[in-house]
Amino acid sequence: MDRAKIARILQMEEYGSNILLKGWIRTKRDSKGGFSFLEINDGSTIENIQVIANQTLENYQKEILHLSTGCSVAVEGELVSSPGKGQKNEIRATKIKVYGWSDPEEYPLQKKRHSFEFLRQIAHLRPRTNTFGAVTRVRNALSQAIHTFFQKRGFYYIHTPIITGSDCEGAGELFKVTTLNLGDLPYDQAGQIDYTQDFFGRATSLTVSGQLEIETYALALGDVYNFGPTFRAENSNTSRHLAEFWMIEPEMAFAELKEDMDLAEDFLKSIFTHILDHCQSDMHFFNLRIDNTIIETIEHIIQSTFERITYTEAVEILENSGEDFEFPVKWGVDLQSEHERYLTEKKIKKPVFVIDYPKEIKAFYMKLNDDGRTVGAMDVLVPRVGEIIGGSQREDNYEALKQKIAQMGFSEKEYWWYLDLRKYGSVPHSGFGLGFERLVQFVTGMNNIRDVIPYPRSPKSAEF
Ligand code: ATP
Ligand code: MN
Repeated sequence: MDRAKIARILQMEEYGSNILLKGWIRTKRDSKGGFSFLEINDGSTIENIQVIANQTLENYQKEILHLSTGCSVAVEGELVSSPGKGQKNEIRATKIKVYGWSDPEEYPLQKKRHSFEFLRQIAHLRPRTNTFGAVTRVRNALSQAIHTFFQKRGFYYIHTPIITGSDCEGAGELFKVTTLNLGDLPYDQAGQIDYTQDFFGRATSLTVSGQLEIETYALALGDVYNFGPTFRAENSNTSRHLAEFWMIEPEMAFAELKEDMDLAEDFLKSIFTHILDHCQSDMHFFNLRIDNTIIETIEHIIQSTFERITYTEAVEILENSGEDFEFPVKWGVDLQSEHERYLTEKKIKKPVFVIDYPKEIKAFYMKLNDDGRTVGAMDVLVPRVGEIIGGSQREDNYEALKQKIAQMGFSEKEYWWYLDLRKYGSVPHSGFGLGFERLVQFVTGMNNIRDVIPYPRSPKSAEF
């Protein structure tokens, strides 16, 4: 007999039929009447199925009575309609095979609720909890929804390199990649590390963004996107930053900032709609246990039109807010999380695009506006998370970009191929970067970004 998954068994109506299921025991309760109730989960849904094990089972005394949380079993039995409230279906076991025992004295996952801090220390076992099972299924559904959204619109999925020779943001938050012997580094005559002896014959690092590379494909294939891992050695121990995270980066040729914003808005609404439709029991769980406004907030966002304001307007709003911010605001400073959250949560009460930032606080590749002091950047701010998307129209003028690279103190030689795009058939083009974990955080209501990725990488922490 083939194994059936619990998600399907709970929907079945073929009462009396014989079923084979396999999973892990969540709880067991022995009744005086000579039978036991097993709650079993197999990861296919947040719900457990109840199995009734009668003392007539041949291994009832020897094994069933000794089962405990975490043991793995195969159950064969009859599908019956559940008389009690709650679940519709249950299984009356005719045979139970124990795969693996789990010592109840040692097994760290007990029936009580554990703190997320504790669960991070046992990240190899936390997927067995309701919360992490649900996060994992939602993360999976989000990935699929993202690909579906772009594929339906004719965007091509591009795999940009993970090891790169270019520092996209110029932010210096790079993890170096090297095979040089760190205990015995080679130096050149100027006393610098001699990277010509390194594996690639040059200094390389893990990518902080695939944007520069993906632009080259946009200027050939039109609409493209990247969805891959990104690494930033930023020493910020916040609930919204990881050292290794996944990023979604669409890039469109023949698109200006307006089209870029339209894409971002359609994108978020489409993804959210998909999740409410396809992850109902998990979303119900998050709404019940993690944040009881989450479904309502997402529904509201799907219905609303995102606000679009300029950075200059945002600064005015913040200056006149009467709020006592930790970081004071004035024109020219970068917006901090507290400012972003004030705008989207308190003032505008829905997602907001902030556009046209001062050129000094944004990346070198963003298109200079006609005013000469702002660039065509856009950030999307959402309640609770703050910035979820950062994007821009790219500088497509050869001379302007060359000047900017020089001003930043970057070497023109390093960016020769990036400048070539502006030399041969340049077109207006735009794109954005969305942090995948921030999206998962937003959708699930989870507070800490370390709890929405299987094995979080953050300062001083890379176990597993
Ligand atoms: P922040 O100001 O929040 O650090 P950023 O301006 O550095 O963000 P971008 O360089 O624009 O971010 O990156 C694009 C997107 O990637 C961001 O909008 C955010 O969703 C996500 N992101 C950036 N840094 C991180 C990080 N360290 N961990 C997780 N997601 C991140
Ligand atoms: Mn950052």
